Formats: sequence, structure tokens, C-alpha cells
Amino acid sequence: MTDADVVVVGSGPTGLLLAGDLAEAGLQVRVLEKRTERSNLTRAFAVHARTLEHLQVRGLAEALVATGHPVDGLQLFGSVTLRLTGLDSPFPFLLITPQLHVERLLLERALGHGVQIVQGAEVTGVDQDADGVRVTSSDGAGARTTVTAAPFAVGTDGYRSAVRDALGLDFPGRSAIRSLMLADVRLTDPPADLLTVRGNSHGFVFVVPFGDGWHRVIARDARREVDVEDPLDLEEVRGVVQRVLGSDLGMAQARWTSRFHSDERQVSRYRVGRVLLAGDAAHVHSPAGGMGMNTGLQDAANLSWKLAAVVEGRAEEGVLDTYHDERHAVGTQVLRTSGALIRAAMRRHPLTRTLRDVAFRAVLALPPAGQALSGRVSGIALRYPAPAGAHASVGRRAVDGGIGLGIEGGRFALAGPEPLLARHRPTRLLATSAAQEPAQLVRPDGYIAWARDPGDPSDAGLSQALRRWGALTSGA
Ligand SMILES: Cc1cc2nc3c(=O)[nH]c(=O)nc-3n(C[C@H](O)[C@H](O)[C@H](O)COP(=O)(O)OP(=O)(O)OC[C@H]3O[C@@H](n4cnc5c(N)ncnc54)[C@H](O)[C@@H]3O)c2cc1C
Repeated sequence: MTDADVVVVGSGPTGLLLAGDLAEAGLQVRVLEKRTERSNLTRAFAVHARTLEHLQVRGLAEALVATGHPVDGLQLFGSVTLRLTGLDSPFPFLLITPQLHVERLLLERALGHGVQIVQGAEVTGVDQDADGVRVTSSDGAGARTTVTAAPFAVGTDGYRSAVRDALGLDFPGRSAIRSLMLADVRLTDPPADLLTVRGNSHGFVFVVPFGDGWHRVIARDARREVDVEDPLDLEEVRGVVQRVLGSDLGMAQARWTSRFHSDERQVSRYRVGRVLLAGDAAHVHSPAGGMGMNTGLQDAANLSWKLAAVVEGRAEEGVLDTYHDERHAVGTQVLRTSGALIRAAMRRHPLTRTLRDVAFRAVLALPPAGQALSGRVSGIALRYPAPAGAHASVGRRAVDGGIGLGIEGGRFALAGPEPLLARHRPTRLLATSAAQEPAQLVRPDGYIAWARDPGDPSDAGLSQALRRWGALTSGA
């Protein structure tokens, strides 16, 4: 007896995108969320191009872009800005919008596809055997314990993941920056730029508008490290902002203040049998580069169609190992990039900062280096490992992330000349497209699964790729 096909633990952005995809594929999905009501606290502000492509495939990009401000570049620190206008994407920009809008759209979509969200269900244990998973949750007051059974469970329950603990997995890493202050404030004299990132020997300040009259300030006082539990008042934030920016920006009122440490950690395995981890439950890093939520959403986009194919018997369970192989490597790379950016941003000595700015500006002015970093931070340049002997483009992102080929709803796209399409048409899940050469099979997450050179008439390997990735109706 099972209660759902998949139990998703946690309804942050990662869990909501995953749950919506699984339900759209026709699966019964139950989300267990410990909070009793939706939070309107926002952490992320940056939505990158690759994430917008994934949202476009789900019909959400336009609505999200309407909530925010596209910016041409990401200010890394000091006078160094990473230009994004050259990105080879329908979204050659960074969208500045509070995380709550991303979550709202993903929640509406998930509910629209029939996801069942149980609020006030705090997961306390997970156990599994060869047939399935049992997830234990409590109502928080400890009055009632519920066991939810399903063939698979995914932990998208954030930094302090109870699912990760239940699997007995460590979260190795270290604190990247200690004693960060976070304050949502009113400013009578806000900065002219949409994003302000500045540091000097006094500390570090980041300012971004919510778009509703409030601003988010993240600051660090270089002179002192404070326990995260210590109270934080507006005067302390105002003092650092004044010393770093030379003005307190007319800081008048705070609706929320808190302190946090920023860690760099990654779990060693994203899959343990029938339980998988995604988002902050699997990796955390500093906010530099604005990649955390983006990486979690892209984990979900990588996992959802594979899990749907396994649950429906279209793919072997082993395909879930490719989720670990592909996304663990990306997580490691993101930790490295954001770690390098935050360490560069925290330089205190004026001479080191000047040298840093000169060196970064010179390197980023070289097109290959600028494109490499913007491709990496935006997610556009990301590619997955290909099997030995595969065509050189296998594992690469398809042009526009497959949007032009019409991938949607967990469907694959097969592009190529008519005879090729005719030979491989009788598949339920395939959206076919008669686009010109090169012929290629694009996965539901927009990466190339099979390709051949222009003029090559052979479709060797295509049937195998269709079967391996679950593009064929069960038993076909
Ligand atoms: C200051 C700051 C700025 C940031 N800026 C950016 C940015 O600009 N761009 C970016 O991409 N990222 C940014 N991030 C990171 C981003 O906010 C996170 O990566 C993102 O929220 C992770 O999403 P998630 O769904 O994986 O986890 P979460 O958002 O943490 O969601 C986890 C959910 O699980 C629930 N939960 C937890 N435990 C349990 C349990 N035991 N049982 C049931 N439910 C449970 C929680 O209540 C929550 O709803 C920033 C982070 C910080 C701290």
C-alpha cells in the first residue's frame, strides 16, 4: 500500500518545481512541509538565464520576468561587473526578483497539476527497503505521527535537511563567511544602481530593492565576529553601511533583521537507494554569484523526468545514478565558483582590492574568459558528461535549452529529417520536430541525448538513447 508515487520533503523552490513536474507527468505526489503557513521571507534575488529557460519550458518565465527587473550585468565586487548581454540564450540578462515570486508561481503550478501539500508535517525519519520508502512526520506539537509510504522520496528540505540526517549522510565543508547581517529596511536615499556590491577595509555591503519600497541589505563588519544568536539592531547595520558606502542611504526603519553564517558544504551522495537529495539539502555556498536557488531548481529539472520515467517503468532505476553523476559535479563547480567570488570580494587591504579589480577587469575583457565565467554563473555553459564514443555534442545544452524544439511537459524532442522521424515516431513521449540537420534527440531538461553529424544518414545509437532515458512507452 502506498500513499503516493513520490513523497517530496520540503516546499521551497526546489521541492515545488520537482513536485509540479512529477504531477504534470501524471504521478501522485505528496509534499510534506513543516511550516504551517507560507513564508514571505526572501533569501534569493537573482534568477539566472538557464533557470529562466527551464521556467519558460514550464510556461512561467513571462510571469516571473514581469515581477522583476532584468539587468545586463552582475556586479561581482568593487568596479568589476560580469556582463551577461552576450549570453547565447533567449534571456541574456539576470532577473532581479525576490524569491517569494518564484515560489508563488511554482506553488500555483504544482497545485494546478494536483500536488497534495501537507503543511505542518515535520519529517523526523525516513527508512527504506527494496520495495519502497516510509517517511515519518510529526505535526510539530508531537501529538500525532504519520507514516507516508511511497516507492521514492526526495529530500528538498534545505540546509538542515532531516532527510539527509536520516540517511546517515554527513554534510562536509566549512563556514565561508561568518557574522553576516541581513536587514530589510526603508531607504530615503537609495543607491542609483539596482544592485550594489561594495567592500573596503571596514567590511562588505550588498543592497538590492524588493520593488515594494523596501530594500534588502546584507552587510559584514570586518572588525567583529558575532554569534548568530546575538540580537541585531538597525544602528549596527547603519554603521557598517556608512563606513563602507560613505552614506547610510537614509536608512530609516527595519521590518526584519537577522544574522547568519554562510557555509560551503556538499553531501557526498545525491542518491541512496530510493531516496534522493536536491537543492540546499545537497549543497550550500555563499550568496556570491546568486547561484543557490538557481542550482536547486536545476537539480529538480534534471531529476524530475528521470524519476517519472523510473516510476512509470520506462527507464531502469540506474538512470537515477545519472542524477548524482551530473548534478554532484555541477554542485562542486558552483561551490568553487561562488567560493572564489566571495573570497575575492572580502579582500580588505586597499592595494589588494585595487590589484584584484585590475586583474579581474583585464581577464574578463578577454572574450573567452568573460564568456566562460558568465556561462558558468548563468548556467548556460554547463554540460554533462557523455558516454564513451558518443557524439561530441551529447551532454551539451541544446540551442535555447530546447525551447525552439518545443520541449515541454517532460517530453523529449527529436529533430531531424522526415525519414529519421518516421522510423522513431511511435513513441508516446516524443515531441518530434522536423528541424534541419544536425539531427538530435533533446532530453526534457534541454540537454542533447543523441546527435549525428550533418550528412550522416545513420541513426546508430538512437534507439539505445531513447530506451536508456525512458523516451519510449513502457515495453516499447
Ligand atoms: C542571504 C541569502 C541570499 C541568497 N541569494 C541568492 C540568490 O540571489 N540567488 C540564488 O539562486 N540563491 C540565493 N540564495 C540561496 C537560496 O535562497 C537557497 O539556495 C534556496 O532557498 C534553496 O531552496 P530549497 O528549496 O533547496 O531549500 P529551502 O528554500 O531552504 O526550502 C526547504 C523547505 O523545507 C522545509 N523543511 C525543512 N525541514 C523540514 C522537515 N524536517 N520536514 C518538512 N519540511 C521541512 C522548510 O520549511 C522549507 O520550506 C541566498 C541565500 C541567502 C541566505
